[in-house]
Amino acid sequence: MSGVLVVGGGPAAHRLAERLRRYGYEGAVTVVGAEPRAPYNRALLGSVLDGTLDAGRLTLPGLPSDVRVLTGTRVTGVDRAARTVRTGDGREFGYDTLVLATGARPRTPPVPGLTDGAGRLAEGVRTVRTAADCRPLSEGPAVVLGGGLRGVETAAALRRAGHEVALVHPGDRPLSRHLDAAGGAVLAEWLRSRGVALHLGVRVAEYARGKVVLDDGRVLAAGTVLLCAGSVPDTGLARSAGLPVREGVVVDSRLRSADPRVHALGDCAQRADLPGATVLGAWEQADALARILTGKDLLYRDGRQVLRPRTPGMNLVVLPPDAGGDEDGDETVTLRDPAGGRYARLVLRGARLRHGLVIGSARAVAAVSRLYGGDAPVPSDLLALLTGADGTYAGAGEPPEDAVVCHCNNVTRKALKDAWRAGARDTGALGRATRATTGCGSCAPVVRQLCAALAREAVSGPAPAEGGTR
Ligand SMILES: Cc1cc2nc3c(=O)[nH]c(=O)nc-3n(C[C@H](O)[C@H](O)[C@H](O)COP(=O)(O)OP(=O)(O)OC[C@H]3O[C@@H](n4cnc5c(N)ncnc54)[C@H](O)[C@@H]3O)c2cc1C
Repeated sequence: MSGVLVVGGGPAAHRLAERLRRYGYEGAVTVVGAEPRAPYNRALLGSVLDGTLDAGRLTLPGLPSDVRVLTGTRVTGVDRAARTVRTGDGREFGYDTLVLATGARPRTPPVPGLTDGAGRLAEGVRTVRTAADCRPLSEGPAVVLGGGLRGVETAAALRRAGHEVALVHPGDRPLSRHLDAAGGAVLAEWLRSRGVALHLGVRVAEYARGKVVLDDGRVLAAGTVLLCAGSVPDTGLARSAGLPVREGVVVDSRLRSADPRVHALGDCAQRADLPGATVLGAWEQADALARILTGKDLLYRDGRQVLRPRTPGMNLVVLPPDAGGDEDGDETVTLRDPAGGRYARLVLRGARLRHGLVIGSARAVAAVSRLYGGDAPVPSDLLALLTGADGTYAGAGEPPEDAVVCHCNNVTRKALKDAWRAGARDTGALGRATRATTGCGSCAPVVRQLCAALAREAVSGPAPAEGGTR
């Protein structure tokens, strides 16, 4: 009765447990998570920070009753020879297969004053990783350390909540790892226009209660400091169990560590060809591992992940560069419209998107994300694509029934319509019925629109036949 034991109670662990049962795994499934609450969707924390989502609503759908979930329980050691794990409260659990899904921890920059002598965060300093971290801010102004994805999202969320916010970033533009100078300038302008005070090209040199000192000598008032200086895969358990770790736990194309009975996935795992840490990536890996463990599939093939910060009102997508780099014959197309807050630079090979970024146009972002995700050929009118004038790929007109609305959970329009007709009449109910909107949340506007359209149709009768696609 040892079965599969999953260490970590985050989105990766949750999805793996759910998929194991879906794919017919009959052995015991145990999820052991250190956080005190049931698995929740960390990717939606920005909405808790800006006050638009209650933290309770982050909880992921309940797992089948025959999955054992232990919360508030930290695994402190693995005995690979005996195939057991120990927990902080002194219990021991056996396994046939162990899955490490321990996620990542926020990095604390080595700035004097941020931590006390024992390594605890000083008063007024917090990380942005857990639901507990995202409780409302009682003391402003807020200073966000780090202008990467999390820093930009956090600063924008706090502004939406009405706080005075300064963002301090050592790069010369926000998202400097992902955006070129022109894209960074558009994002910087957008942040400033929203009231975020940007301090670029500087670092925080020191923190003392109520203020930070920058390395150019300036002092900023800081009621709360939020650390968004990157995260580090949580590999302590793997290391102490003697498993190879580089930045993350090293796994092969079966998401298997050096020990064939131990797998790793999500933010704690590493493969040279895995994309950056996203909840979608974690879920794809969980699905793949469940298939592998139930003999339905043999390999994990990573999907084409894009980076889309959750900053309502700022449309931005980054298509990460592939490991192989650019080749002779690759073509770069660029659109610059700083006054209109738009910029795009895409690298194409043949007619397919390799990497690049689009910023400013919702329709262009949607179209490019969709084409890239499906590795589909771009249309001949690239200008129309980049300006969003070509609605073909961005959802203008009526999308087909099998069009995926929620990419996180693979929910189609048809599934949403069926759920609506079965009685799920608002976004929340549709989310519970289909899981749409419970992933990264970016499909919520489309689900709302669909809901409204179905309600209108119910009152006024179906629109003239369009191949049954309404
Ligand atoms: C503020 C924020 C916003 C984000 N926004 C987005 C977004 O918009 N889009 C996106 O794609 N991604 C986003 N992400 C990233 C996304 O949340 C992660 O990629 C995802 O949560 C990874 O899931 P995971 O299960 O691998 O790890 P985690 O979510 O980190 O979960 C790991 C869990 O394991 C537990 N654990 C660790 N060690 C042990 C142990 N020894 N014993 C027991 N339990 C243990 C941890 O406490 C934690 O609960 C965001 C992340 C943050 C922090």
